[in-house]
Amino acid sequence: MTTSTTTLTQISHFISGAETPGDGDRTRPVYNPATGRVSAELRLANRADLDATVAAARAAADSWGDISLAKRTAVLFKFRELVASHVDELAALITAEHGKVLSDAKGEIGRGLEVVEFACGIPQLLKGDYSDQVSTGIDVFSFREPLGVVAGITPFNFPVMVPLWMAPMAIATGNAFILKPSERDPSASMLLAKLWKDAGLPDGVFQVLHGDKETVDGLLTHPDVDGISFVGSTPIAQYVHETATKHGKRVQALGGAKNHAIIMPDADLDNAADHLAAAAFGSAGERCMAISVAVAVGDAADLLVKKVEERALAVKVNNGTVPGAEMGPVITTASKDRIVRIVTEAETAGAAMVVDGRDLVVPGHEDGFWVGPTVLDHVKTGMTAYTEEIFGPVLVVVRVADLEEGIRLINANPYGNGTAIFTSSGANARTFQRSVTVGMIGINVPLPVPVAYHSFGGWKASLFGDKHIYGPEGVSFYTRGKVVTSRWPEPTHASGASYNFPSN
Ligand code: NAD
Repeated sequence: MTTSTTTLTQISHFISGAETPGDGDRTRPVYNPATGRVSAELRLANRADLDATVAAARAAADSWGDISLAKRTAVLFKFRELVASHVDELAALITAEHGKVLSDAKGEIGRGLEVVEFACGIPQLLKGDYSDQVSTGIDVFSFREPLGVVAGITPFNFPVMVPLWMAPMAIATGNAFILKPSERDPSASMLLAKLWKDAGLPDGVFQVLHGDKETVDGLLTHPDVDGISFVGSTPIAQYVHETATKHGKRVQALGGAKNHAIIMPDADLDNAADHLAAAAFGSAGERCMAISVAVAVGDAADLLVKKVEERALAVKVNNGTVPGAEMGPVITTASKDRIVRIVTEAETAGAAMVVDGRDLVVPGHEDGFWVGPTVLDHVKTGMTAYTEEIFGPVLVVVRVADLEEGIRLINANPYGNGTAIFTSSGANARTFQRSVTVGMIGINVPLPVPVAYHSFGGWKASLFGDKHIYGPEGVSFYTRGKVVTSRWPEPTHASGASYNFPSN
């Protein structure tokens, strides 16, 4: 790995409408995973930076929360236009720091844009309820107000989409939003900040504060932060939920996953194999909705494994900037080592190695963090390849006798983010959708990420908190309700005091 500290680009924070290096003296390197080289140095916030950011957010929240819906939506529409016209630039930043191929990077921006578009409809979404004449001369109405200052703590695997799951919803509902992006691929968040500013968003409403655990802990416990949205791994999601709720904040914390797909013998196996390969190896398996466990039912297994093997061997792995590349590197050398270790443990424990991606070398990129598509068959539930979220391009195949056994397997798993079934039977699909303890379900759809006007969220260890993210639940998460009971008596009216509890 090459580290040249003298020429490195510095990545700063975005506080009060301007890029600033801040006060902190800690930094950490940012890598290009395809080359293995350090590409920039990220400045990490200290306590003074955190306090300055929260203070700016507090001041901005008061006026932004009070601004008319018409003015808020004008900013959102403009922001939508600017993101759409900067897709190439954003995608290049994602690929350079995350490693996913450019077309996939553009795909995540597209899914993020959907949420911006949904947020453009905020006047409709914030319409309250009105009950006329609930008692003689009395009306009741309800409406929602912003929480105030909210922070979003995001993972490395979607450096644009996940911030866009949060920020447009938080901002449209009248909050000031502080983004603490992943320290592994922080640059795209800085371009998003610039686009918000260019869209006319007042300073302090969207800010970016870079940091690690120290910064996260500061946000979780800061008395002036009202809400926390977190997306990341399960242990950290649980920690974030516990810590921030203890400090009186509203919290939604989305965690990790181990998504199973059941393949029935009645499925179109070519179609299933295409989708399984794409869902397991796309983005090098670094998706919270990746299919990492194929549950092959009965007779489907042998033929399915053969078809997945053919597809795994054909995946074009390369630097994400190379035209035609279908899969890039994994995020760090530590991640590569962990994936290789888990695959080796499974092999030692008796799993059958169908496709082995451990020793992949990409010519011209020998120092990149490469793991090739890997398929393990006959995996047992006690193996670490089954119990851990691998977060790499590894598909494990578990064989079961029937649909019921497959559903029992899914429901016994501690995670409950996404799942899918491949079948040509409506009855099987219906049994599946009604029985699984999982939040997002695909029927012949491998990555059932809900569109922006539904909400996204898993069950069990995949989500801590009550509200799913974006969509109608996002509006609810970033606001709190008021109910007004109102009477306008005639000036001459005097009914005398009643000391009973009011009834209608
Ligand atoms: P991560 O948990 O390591 O990091 C997420 C965020 O938490 C980062 O901003 C990081 O700086 C911060 N963080 C890390 N360690 C911390 C600590 N000890 N204390 C406080 N903050 C800490 O996750 P990651 O590796 O960046 O992302 C991959 C994980 O995210 C996977 O488990 C994946 O399934 C999950 N994920 C889930 C969803 C979902 O919607 N459920 C979506 C995307 C990713």
